[in-house]
Amino acid sequence: MNPGTSIETLIKAEAQRLGFDACGFAAAEVVDDDAVQRYSEWISSGEHSCMAWAERHDDIRRDPHLLLPGARSVICLAMNYYPNRFQPADAPRFAYYAYGRDYHEVLRDRGRLLAQFILEKTGCASRVCVDSAPMRERYWAQKSGIGFVGLNNMIILPGKGSFFVLCEVITELELTPDAPCTETCGECHACERHCPGQALHDGMVDTRKCLSCQTIENRDERLPEWIEQCIGNHVYGCDECQLCCPHNRHATGNHVPEFQPSDEFLQLDAQAILDMTQEQFSRIFSHSAVKRVKLAGLKRNMRAVKARIS
Ligand code: SF4
Ligand code: SF4
Repeated sequence: MNPGTSIETLIKAEAQRLGFDACGFAAAEVVDDDAVQRYSEWISSGEHSCMAWAERHDDIRRDPHLLLPGARSVICLAMNYYPNRFQPADAPRFAYYAYGRDYHEVLRDRGRLLAQFILEKTGCASRVCVDSAPMRERYWAQKSGIGFVGLNNMIILPGKGSFFVLCEVITELELTPDAPCTETCGECHACERHCPGQALHDGMVDTRKCLSCQTIENRDERLPEWIEQCIGNHVYGCDECQLCCPHNRHATGNHVPEFQPSDEFLQLDAQAILDMTQEQFSRIFSHSAVKRVKLAGLKRNMRAVKARIS
């Protein structure tokens, strides 16, 4: 790098070196009124209720200064998780993001390395968030120009698709903001048509009808009957609203060693899940996002899937 290289260029180069596929900057200002309004309407409708935490810490969700006093910028980072190897077509399906190591751990570690880089270069402190704090992460991703929020409620990186996980570094450092992403879905609506639970409407997701929310966040001994009716072979999460999205037609496999699935995971079939011991579950999933559902939740989902496909 030339001695006169800007700090913005240095940070983006370091983010790329750390394995991030996109990096953008936004000014750390309070969230726009219209975005706050839409979120409030979603909470008031009750459609968030499968993710009860979404209604807490509303003040923090609006203002990044409550996460880091002195915040000047939000750095948004995205990392591809599209697999290179897949489960057999007839296997009980796990969402792609759950194939390898828990992305929270992977992105947090790399985000902290970027925060350390910023500290060493500028003396400015930062805070790293990976779903770990009340943060409107897709809002900030759009603000920072790395993508737009599709009607499937996922962040879509133009030309790259939506199989990306996000991380934010809130920092005291003032950075020149990037232009927000202005792309939209246009008249597509494919995700709304393909959603098994008909959970998508008007850019909102009704978590009560979403297989991803229900198979992961629901703690009941049995899933709601009508979720069981449409569960198909989704034993953990659901990618249907991404798989049908035209922006993912050219998705390419990730390059993250930690995201690669084990052979043991890829060989799991229905009986193996139903017979799984706690020891096996811990061995396969202790560093996976799947640990969130616990063994009992995974078996509950598996019983519902088996009832549909047998
Ligand atoms: S994850 Fe599945 S159930 Fe949920 S909105 Fe997307 S397609 Fe619908
Ligand atoms: S499937 Fe179509 S409407 Fe849905 S997110 Fe993708 S582009 Fe947007």
